[in-house]
Amino acid sequence: MASFIKASQKRVGDVHAYLRDKANGNSIRYRVESGKTHLIYIPYQETTEMDENGNPITVRSLKMINGNVHEWTTPDGRYHSTVCAKDTVIKSEDGTVINDGSCPFCERISDAWDIVNMRVAKEEQTCTLPAGSDQLKEHMDAAKRTFMNEMKCRKPSSYNYLLVVQFRTDGNKPLIDGTTGLPMYDLKVMKMTDKKLEQILSTVENSGDQLEGCELMFKYPVSDDIRVVGGRPSISVVFPNNRLTAKYPNLKQKIDADFNKFDFEGLDKQGFPEWAGMSTEQAKAVTDSLFSQWDAYQKELKVNPNAQYLEYITAAPDNNPSLSGAPAVPTLAAPTVAAPSVAAPTVATPEAPAAPAAPTLNASNISDLFGTPDGSIQI
Ligand SMILES: [Zn+2]
Repeated sequence: MASFIKASQKRVGDVHAYLRDKANGNSIRYRVESGKTHLIYIPYQETTEMDENGNPITVRSLKMINGNVHEWTTPDGRYHSTVCAKDTVIKSEDGTVINDGSCPFCERISDAWDIVNMRVAKEEQTCTLPAGSDQLKEHMDAAKRTFMNEMKCRKPSSYNYLLVVQFRTDGNKPLIDGTTGLPMYDLKVMKMTDKKLEQILSTVENSGDQLEGCELMFKYPVSDDIRVVGGRPSISVVFPNNRLTAKYPNLKQKIDADFNKFDFEGLDKQGFPEWAGMSTEQAKAVTDSLFSQWDAYQKELKVNPNAQYLEYITAAPDNNPSLSGAPAVPTLAAPTVAAPSVAAPTVATPEAPAAPAAPTLNASNISDLFGTPDGSIQI
């Protein structure tokens, strides 16, 4: 029998590489760093295709995947995410259905909005600020933002996962490998919203270049808040003559070889747990647990018109500024126990954008970074 140590050990060949990987969380996930400047190259492959006249043309393409991701926060304040499984059908080898094409998260979005609307109605009912006043409007806007940030489930957000090359630098100087004489680099996967991708693309195109093969500098501001760091990098395009891929002719060849070997398989174990996916059954268990009190309330309502939904009725103001970044919503009146108003004003329909246009960080624009508000982001 093989010994446990033989079976489980990982051989450490290069101690420097080993320690560096450890420090990076051994992850391919690209992470922003406070006060640092990152030098990034966008690798691509070239293929020859025929245009409509049958003439061969060279097409450059990136290595990138896209996923619609559901994000939610459990009552313990932890951030979670999973790729939307709508229309995904997966069967195990013996024919057991793992994913049946439905998405329990999508199916709960309207319940989540019902809860938001009910909380807004309740807040309006109990708030003692003068009707029609600016204070009331401000207060209600803040309350709505908080309630939306705390939504149990929301429309999936589109994220792009782009393979990039991050050069290792000492300050702004590239580190050179003594053996190959080439700049040292790591392959990283940059996660970003469509908006962020468009921003990068327009920066590159405005400089008269194209994204494929471009070298970019991401300068991050100094902040203890990783969301601030990731949200406001200054992005600039490196002049073609100054690019490392121009200065070191063999560099691109080496990168291309790594690029061709790379695939996105196993991404869930590389810092992107949302790609682990969930079976329909697992997802249903999660959403049922998130909505357990709501479901109990709905059930009770059928036999008792005075049924109450008490999940958010707490003695202390229910706000979570560390996560939502939204202003705290003061509880102006002691929560009175009342039957929920039937004529709840509708804040938004499930089709409406989940993101309020708030200047503060909220669950939506926190995600508009290279990272997400999960605790795994570390400098
Ligand atoms: Zn879904």
